[in-house]
Amino acid sequence: MTTTDTGIQAGEQRMLIDGELQLTDGGTLFDVEHPGSGQVVGQATDATVADMARAVGAAWRASENANWARDIEFRFHCLMQLHDALDRNKERLRRVLVTEVGCPISVTGAQIEEPIAEVKHWAEHGRNFEYLVDTGIHQTHLGPARRKLSYEPVGVVGAITPWNVPFYLNVAETVPALMAGNTVVLKPAQLTPWSGTELGRIVAEETDIPAGVFNVVSSNANEVGAALSADPRVDMITFTGSTATGRAILAAGAATVKKTLLELGGKSAHIVLDDAHFGSALPLAAMMACVMSGQSCILPSRILLPRSRYDEGVAVLKAAMENFPVGDPWTPGIMQGPQISAAQRQKVLGLIASGIESGARLVTGGGVPENLPNGYYTQPTLLADVDPDCQVAQEEIFGPVLTVTPYDNDDEAVAIANNSIYGLSGEVSGTDVDRAFAIAQRMRTGNVTINGKSHFGIASPFGGTKQSGLGYRNGTHGYAEYLAIKTIGLPE
Ligand code: ADP
Repeated sequence: MTTTDTGIQAGEQRMLIDGELQLTDGGTLFDVEHPGSGQVVGQATDATVADMARAVGAAWRASENANWARDIEFRFHCLMQLHDALDRNKERLRRVLVTEVGCPISVTGAQIEEPIAEVKHWAEHGRNFEYLVDTGIHQTHLGPARRKLSYEPVGVVGAITPWNVPFYLNVAETVPALMAGNTVVLKPAQLTPWSGTELGRIVAEETDIPAGVFNVVSSNANEVGAALSADPRVDMITFTGSTATGRAILAAGAATVKKTLLELGGKSAHIVLDDAHFGSALPLAAMMACVMSGQSCILPSRILLPRSRYDEGVAVLKAAMENFPVGDPWTPGIMQGPQISAAQRQKVLGLIASGIESGARLVTGGGVPENLPNGYYTQPTLLADVDPDCQVAQEEIFGPVLTVTPYDNDDEAVAIANNSIYGLSGEVSGTDVDRAFAIAQRMRTGNVTINGKSHFGIASPFGGTKQSGLGYRNGTHGYAEYLAIKTIGLPE
């Protein structure tokens, strides 16, 4: 099959600083590729560290403007305008997303419709939030005192986002921060600048969000994100991306003790119990591994099978992966597109090779699909007999790859699952739900899915343990991350 370009849509080239859509001085642009074909399909402005400093300055001045921080009804009005504007732009946003990410158009609902709905959710959640809480009379050695908690914006929030689900994460990292009364500078990923610049264009052209409250700085240089994370005028960084970059951001913020919200890597395990229904649990596991080309931090990529049913499980996974619809992301029905870039696919293929070198058995896949020579496609890949300590079982792959490891009893399964520097998600499948739940409680992760029932959604806190992150997104906990609590003691 050859890649069609009928749906390709280049996005906005300009960034948004202090209310103005603009190119960097001198007009330098950087290229954006369509991963489905490997072709350059447009450009975005390549901001400098000086541009970032201007954006932070604009956000800082806007945060000093008490109106945005204090006027909840105005913020509600602006974010509902944003919701309606995004909805009007929905089909363009969808084409821009498929163009720069290469995700199949058939599975864009979670990356377009859901985040647009989330804008409305956060507007309503923020409007109803109790920003002043009277905690009653407290006895102190100086006599009784009433205490009130005042929830106030943190200030200037820097949002740094990755390329795997860029529009969703641009919304998830900035909209609750804005509704909570903060001002924001968004730095989208190099490979996917348009899901950020489009948001900037829509904010500038179709909402009353004041100048400086929301800024978007696109750049091809990591130094520009680093400058945002080190700027003393930035009060908080919210970041989704690799653990290595998360460590750098945490270190950069240390000098000014910045509040830091991090969603980092994962290497989640799926414990399949001996009483599990393999015919439903394992095809679903294969689908989760392939549907975003494996480019998901919460993907349970380590399948742990009971030795008593090991061959049966490997066979079900093999069949599901071999029948998975991989191809051109514009073709309806395709569910796995390309990897985001040549470098990323090379990394995936290298990790598969390292797995085979360390003794894993290649059951299916392992290379580039023959019928897809252009673009950055990878075959759905199953590695069995994987040593839990080897590189491919320890490093995040971010490709359509599942590793399979046998275990002999529940304790061993839990020990293998917890043998990781990461602690983002996990999964347990089994007919006895009480037993599965007890195992879920022993997994050292922030989230667990049992029998395919997702832990993930806007109403529930989502965060990682160990080196998978700090803090929470979603739910009331996630909203409160963008607020500082001021405790005020006052007369009874
Ligand atoms: P990947 O390595 O897969 O590209 P990263 O976690 O490095 O993913 O990138 C996520 C985001 O972090 C991108 O927007 C990128 O520009 C940004 N980034 C990369 N390096 C730094 C850094 N040192 N400081 C701040 N942001 C950075």
